[in-house]
Amino acid sequence: MSIERSPLSEAEIMRIDAEHIWHPYSSFKSAVPVFPVKSAQGVYLHLHSGETLIDGMSSWWSTLHGYNATAISDAIAKQAQQLSHVMFGGLTHEPAAYLTKQLVKLSPDGLEKVFLSDSGSVAVEIAMKMAIQYWHAKGQPNKNKMLALRNGYHGDTIGAMSVCDPVTGMHHLFKNTLTQQVFTEQPACKFHEQWDESYLTDIKQQIANHKHELAAVILEPVVQGTGGMHFYSPEYVKAVKALCEANNLLLIADEIATGFGRTGKMFACEHAGITPDIMCLGKTLTGGTMTLAATLCTNKVADTICNAEPGVFMHGPTFMGNPLACTAASVNIDLLLNSNWQSNISRLQTGLLEGLLPCKHNAKVKDVRTLGAIGVVEMQEPVDMAKIQPMFVEHGVWLRPFGKLIYMMPAYIMQDEQLKTLTQAVCNVIEKYTAQ
Ligand SMILES: *Cc1c(COP(=O)(O)O)cnc(C)c1O
Repeated sequence: MSIERSPLSEAEIMRIDAEHIWHPYSSFKSAVPVFPVKSAQGVYLHLHSGETLIDGMSSWWSTLHGYNATAISDAIAKQAQQLSHVMFGGLTHEPAAYLTKQLVKLSPDGLEKVFLSDSGSVAVEIAMKMAIQYWHAKGQPNKNKMLALRNGYHGDTIGAMSVCDPVTGMHHLFKNTLTQQVFTEQPACKFHEQWDESYLTDIKQQIANHKHELAAVILEPVVQGTGGMHFYSPEYVKAVKALCEANNLLLIADEIATGFGRTGKMFACEHAGITPDIMCLGKTLTGGTMTLAATLCTNKVADTICNAEPGVFMHGPTFMGNPLACTAASVNIDLLLNSNWQSNISRLQTGLLEGLLPCKHNAKVKDVRTLGAIGVVEMQEPVDMAKIQPMFVEHGVWLRPFGKLIYMMPAYIMQDEQLKTLTQAVCNVIEKYTAQ
C-alpha cells in the first residue's frame, strides 16, 4: 500500500512554521525570516518562491559533494530495501563494518576503535565519557574534568556545552547545571604566524594547577569553528599533545567540522602530525544526507576501559550504527577518495581568497581570511541577521552569518564560476549593508 497525500502549500508551511516550529537558536518573537526550500541539487537550493540560491554554507559543513549526489542517494535507497535499521546491541551488519574499516584506515595511525552515534554533540559526550571512564579504570576517579579552549565549540547537549566557550556558550544561563570545566586562553598564534613557546604559558599554568582533576584536553585542531572561525598554529596542537603525554592527560580532537579535507588535510590533526587519543567525527561524515557521528579511540583507551570495573563502556544509543547512515557515509568517503580533493580544496582556497579580498578595503570589515575551503569575512561589529539574511537571498546566495562573522565553506564540487558568483554577492551585500 502506498500513502498518497497532497503537499502543503507554501502559505500553510509558513503558517505552521511560524506557529509551532523551533529552529536552531530561534525565537517565536523574532523578525529573522525563514525561507522554505523545495529541493536542492549540486550547489543550488531551490526555494518555493521559485528563486535559486547558490549555497555557501554546505548546510553547516555537511554537503561535501553537493546536494543529491546520486551515488549516495541511490545507495541509501538500495540499502533501505535490504535493512533500514536494526538494533546494534548483540547484532552487527556489513554497512557498519565497511564504514569502520574505512574510518580506521583513513584516520591518524593508532585510532583503532570506533563508536558510532547520531550527532556531533553526542560524539563529544561519548569522547568525554571515554576519558572519564579511562581514569576511573586506572583508579584515578578524581581525574574527571576537561581542559577546554576559550572560543571553542563542541555542541549543544549539556556535557558538550560545558566545554564550549563560557561566554558565547552562555554558561550563566545554565550555571548550576553545567559541570565546571577548566578553560585556557584561545590559542593566540595564528595559522601562518611564527610559533613561539610563550604561546603555551597559560595552558601550562592551567595544567599545572589542575592536572590532578583533569581527564583530558579537548580542542578543535587548527580551526575553531562556530566559536569564532579562528585559524591557529598546528604547532599549538603538537605542543598540547606533548603536554598531555607529559602530564597524564588524554587528548580529544574534535574534528566534527574540520574532518574530511576541509582544511586541506584529510584531518586537521595531520597539520600537526599527531594522533589524538580520542577523535570525534560528524557533520560531513555522510555527505550531508543522514545524521551520523563517530568517536574513535586508541587501543590503549579501549583496553583500559574494558579491563576494569564495570568492564564495559557505558553508552548505547538506540540508532547506533544505523545501516542507512553507514551506507551513506561509506559512499561519501569513497567519492571523496576517488576525487582529486587536495587540488580541489586548494582551487577553492584560491578562489575564496581572490573573491573575498575586495571586501578588505571596507572600513567596517576587520579581516578577510581563508584556510582550505573555508572563507571568512570578519566585520568590526556583529551583523543584524534580520537585515542581512534577506539581502543575501536577494543576491542569489545562501549564507548564515553569526555575530561578526560572514563565512562560507562551499561543497567541494563548486565550480570556479559559481564560487565567483558567491563571493561577488558577498562583497556586494557587505558594500550595501555597510553603506546603510
Ligand atoms: C557542529 C559541531 C559539533 C556539534 O555537532 P552536532 O551534530 O550539531 O551535534 C561539535 N563540535 C564541532 C567542532 C562542531 O562544529
